[in-house]
Amino acid sequence: MAIARHGRVIENQKLNATSRLLRVQLIEDGGPELHAGRYIIVDSGRRAPNGKIVKRAYSLISVDADRRRMELAVKWIDGAGGSTYMHQLVAGAELTFSGPWGRFFVPPEAASQRIEVVATDTGITCALGLLASLPAGAPPAALRLVWLAAGRDYFLEPEFVERRLPAGLGGFEFIACESVGDPRRLAAAQRALDGRRDRSDRLFLAGDGAVIWPLRDAARNHGLPEDRIYLECYFNNPAKQSA
Ligand SMILES: Cc1cc2nc3c(=O)[nH]c(=O)nc-3n(C[C@H](O)[C@H](O)[C@H](O)COP(=O)(O)OP(=O)(O)OC[C@H]3O[C@@H](n4cnc5c(N)ncnc54)[C@H](O)[C@@H]3O)c2cc1C
Repeated sequence: MAIARHGRVIENQKLNATSRLLRVQLIEDGGPELHAGRYIIVDSGRRAPNGKIVKRAYSLISVDADRRRMELAVKWIDGAGGSTYMHQLVAGAELTFSGPWGRFFVPPEAASQRIEVVATDTGITCALGLLASLPAGAPPAALRLVWLAAGRDYFLEPEFVERRLPAGLGGFEFIACESVGDPRRLAAAQRALDGRRDRSDRLFLAGDGAVIWPLRDAARNHGLPEDRIYLECYFNNPAKQSA
């Protein structure tokens, strides 16, 4: 069973109509270290209509040098679930969570490899975490980030993302695509990867399952080994739907 951990909200900053940036400080000693790119599972303590406690995953977009303070960016999704809880947290509130979990980081042996990161929608958070977790001053020059979302004001603004990109990064491209649920967005993501597929040694995919799972299958079909493909599915997860 996961160990319950505790943090305190230092700040819950409104970025735009549906997005907030939370800064959280650990208020406990011990426990696994925080790492950017990993995610925590927040226990809201609230019950969903089906009686289950609402627990939701949020990626660490950055972590302080002492690994006791983390930043989370949360988009509000219509309803009374986890994102509403996160948006309503005030400075001083306690946050209960487990983790960090996940393997969305560049392993040391891949530092000189060609790396493609494709994020859709809110999936940009773990892409930012991945970049923040790279050794200081040494981003892989062949690392490229592509982010697809339905407009510049969908979540974090592209300028916010750009300000956090490490110097020397291979490239960053923001692509305005159709909204979640529109099947045409997959084609937009495929076009973004076309011509680069044969050149990447590792592929990191995050966000909409309707887009990233087909991209993963295509990469496998092109010969990229399964253990070089990293997937963080935020929603539309076929694995969960069939469970
Ligand atoms: C590993 C992981 C990391 C995550 N990190 C973040 C993060 O850093 N920031 C963040 O905002 N969210 C993140 N999420 C999504 C988050 O866990 C919640 O699903 C989200 O906040 C909505 O929670 P909710 O309880 O309000 O709505 P839910 O009841 O969870 O969802 C309501 C419906 O909206 C769908 N949905 C969830 N997110 C989106 C979206 N962006 N666009 C369209 N539909 C969506 C769900 O699939 C569901 O059908 C992450 C998810 C995972 C699995």
